[in-house]
Amino acid sequence: MSDEVKRKLLIADDTPANIKVLGEALRHDYKIIVATNGLEVLKIMESGSLPDLILLDVMMPDMDGYETCKRLKANALTAQIPIIFITAKSQEDDEAYGFKLGAVDYITKPISIPILKARVNTHMELKRHRDALVQMARIDGLTGVSNRLGYNDFMDMEWRRACRNNLPISLIMIDIDYFKQYNDSYGHIMGDECLKRVATALASLVRRPGDLVARYGGEEFAAILPDTDRAGVQFIAEKMRKCVESLKIDHCESSVGPHVTVSIGCFSVNPNPGEQPEELASRADKALYSAKKCGRNRVIEADSEGE
Ligand code: GH3
Ligand code: MG
Ligand code: MG
Repeated sequence: MSDEVKRKLLIADDTPANIKVLGEALRHDYKIIVATNGLEVLKIMESGSLPDLILLDVMMPDMDGYETCKRLKANALTAQIPIIFITAKSQEDDEAYGFKLGAVDYITKPISIPILKARVNTHMELKRHRDALVQMARIDGLTGVSNRLGYNDFMDMEWRRACRNNLPISLIMIDIDYFKQYNDSYGHIMGDECLKRVATALASLVRRPGDLVARYGGEEFAAILPDTDRAGVQFIAEKMRKCVESLKIDHCESSVGPHVTVSIGCFSVNPNPGEQPEELASRADKALYSAKKCGRNRVIEADSEGE
């Protein structure tokens, strides 16, 4: 298995010999990351490289396994990572305490390699299923792009990142023109087909891995472009408008022209930690409303309205 597709396993133990034994047993199936105390575990999490599972030794200097587990569970970013405690202690009370802190399993030393492997495999498999469900819950069933939940999660994450790194972040709001009339004249099935084609076209234009296209509501889409300034967002927004027009989807009831078109509002901001991402959405939405008022099939940037 190549390293890219291997799931990540973090082994935290202060005894190098233990890390060696565990690592050798599991290296074939997982990408191994190691830490020798709790503080190192937290540092790895801060770096953003989150493992899929943690094997956590209870007795470690500086910060022990229990305290590390508490901190990981208290942080929304790391709370979902399954933790298996490894300890020489085998008293019932200790095990119960570990479970109370949120561990999924417990392995006692001396370690039996087949049991270790079986338990790690089981919990990795459960984690994989949960990740898939979390991912699916964020996809819009009709169009295949992100849904509103995916948008919210992504925006929260990117907003914080932009604040931290003092980078701009841009938002594009896209709404299909006279879509009610489209449904009325072509029917809902064709309406759904149109939504799919527009979504696919929009998604094809944002190619950076850091960008996201989402279905924001019925026939409204949003694109979040991190690290993108005013010039960048205007360029992409205009490309989106042209791209939808060039699909040449017949729309005999549109007052704009013979084909389906979109109106677009966009906004770029250098966020401050005190502000909320909703402000970005509200500014882009107002610009979209202006684009509708000014005749549709156009892009308006929030700043250019003189707001
Ligand atoms: P405007 O140009 O001002 O945006 O007018 P509009 O008709 O596009 O806007 P309005 O908000 O009045 O109507 C949106 C329509 O989108 C109404 C609804 O029937 C349609 N719509 C929303 N979600 C779906 C969907 O999932 N499938 C289909 N087929 N239509 C949808
Ligand atoms: Mg519309
Ligand atoms: Mg609408």
